[in-house]
Amino acid sequence: MTGSVHSDPGAFDSSTFESSDFPAEILEMHWARICSRLQVEVGEVEYRTWLKQISLGPVDGDEITLMLPTRFLRDWVRGQYGDRLSHLWSGEIPAIRRVELQVARAGTAQAAPAVAAAAPAADLPQVGADLGTAAAVPSIVEARNDLAAPLDPRYTFDSFVVGKPNEFAYACARRVAEKPSSVGFNPLFLYGGVGLGKTHLMHAIGSELVREGKVSVAYMSAEKFMYRFIAAIRSQSTMQFKEQLRSVDVLMIDDLQFLIGKDNTQEEFFHTFNALVDAGRQIVVSADKSPSDLSGLEDRLRTRLGCGMVADIHATTFELRISILESKALASGVSVPAKVLEFLAHKITTNVRELEGALNRLIAHANLFGRPVTLEATQEVLHDILKAHDRRVTIEEIQRKVSEHWNIRLTDMSSARRARAVARPRQVAMYLAKQLTSRSLPEIGRKFGNRDHTTVMHAVSRITELMERDNAFAEDVELLRRMLES
Ligand code: ADP
Ligand code: MG
Repeated sequence: MTGSVHSDPGAFDSSTFESSDFPAEILEMHWARICSRLQVEVGEVEYRTWLKQISLGPVDGDEITLMLPTRFLRDWVRGQYGDRLSHLWSGEIPAIRRVELQVARAGTAQAAPAVAAAAPAADLPQVGADLGTAAAVPSIVEARNDLAAPLDPRYTFDSFVVGKPNEFAYACARRVAEKPSSVGFNPLFLYGGVGLGKTHLMHAIGSELVREGKVSVAYMSAEKFMYRFIAAIRSQSTMQFKEQLRSVDVLMIDDLQFLIGKDNTQEEFFHTFNALVDAGRQIVVSADKSPSDLSGLEDRLRTRLGCGMVADIHATTFELRISILESKALASGVSVPAKVLEFLAHKITTNVRELEGALNRLIAHANLFGRPVTLEATQEVLHDILKAHDRRVTIEEIQRKVSEHWNIRLTDMSSARRARAVARPRQVAMYLAKQLTSRSLPEIGRKFGNRDHTTVMHAVSRITELMERDNAFAEDVELLRRMLES
């Protein structure tokens, strides 16, 4: 079946026009104009994703044929842009009143390849997995029958550096990779801030299971899940979509927070989720917050998400950052002095991805110029990154925020009072001052009522220790830190 868009097929006397009335160059010219309008109307991403795949076919009577490489793309473009395309064509050439969308079969002559060169497969988002038939042209768009996004082979358990902040999540992930669907671990819900290794761990689980070859695994972002779901609705293949989803042994959905406010997709996810868990399959989900904090997700979904194992990946510590840098530097084969690693770990604190990026840049630079990595070179090469990470938080700000948080007087930050209710917040403020500013211990001490630097040192180790022991307390401090950093 092909995709006629116009609703009034009989209205035109097709004998009046021949395809030859529109030489290819003329059609190409009009098409180029339509394309640039569409590009503006729908935005670059949408355009490249869907519309750039279109190539021109012949004109027959009042109908122009547009071709797409797969049925999936054809259906999507028809559903989303069919009316708009026929409208635009009529605007260009009034004699054209219908747009026919077809799947280009292998060997189909394409009228205007120069104008509508198909995008390389890499331009297609993961959404493009083909739900369709053999009509796809594999050379243009890789026909993917599998449901999932590919797994990044670099993200393995071996390449994941384990430390206090992520050891629990790591252990849970390993457990799921060894024994999917164990009681108590389904679903596995991984959460934490940006760039702390959620995606890495999910890929590691996937790769491990695939390597063992025991089970089928589908990994995709929640965003892709939504696109796939919408595409399935449009192409009336929701049954297939559901069957595909429900046939996997392990389903992993990354960045679930994306589904906030997307009620229909949430609904579908919820049903899929239930069906899989009931059938004894494993689900792994990641998000930037815990299930209970994901307000905007349906309650029943949040409840179910929290039913298995919930593992938090905490913000990195200095020690973990150092280990990560050491491991990546080692893998690169370039020798990076400890001083440089410490400098980076001190400066770039929030996000492992950025830390990694900075190190990679240094390494590339060293390789390119054949010069050893030094602290001076680092400061020069990473000038822009470091500037962005310069923390401008002041000790006064820290004191203010901390006092507000625990509802004590600001003056108690420098007072001699030793009651726990004021002493503890004061220690937290000292700890944060050490973490978030480049002030030395004596400088910090001075700002806290002229205390000695050993008092600050003691505060830092005391708070570190308490954070390790007391989760709720750690979260409080972490929250303060995030507030101060943003
Ligand atoms: P998230 O999904 O939580 O935003 P990612 O998993 O994408 O974060 O991690 C960002 C980058 O940092 C990736 O390149 C990942 O390999 C790396 N990374 C994060 N945590 C670790 C870790 N503990 N050990 C090694 N690499 C890590
Ligand atoms: Mg991620």
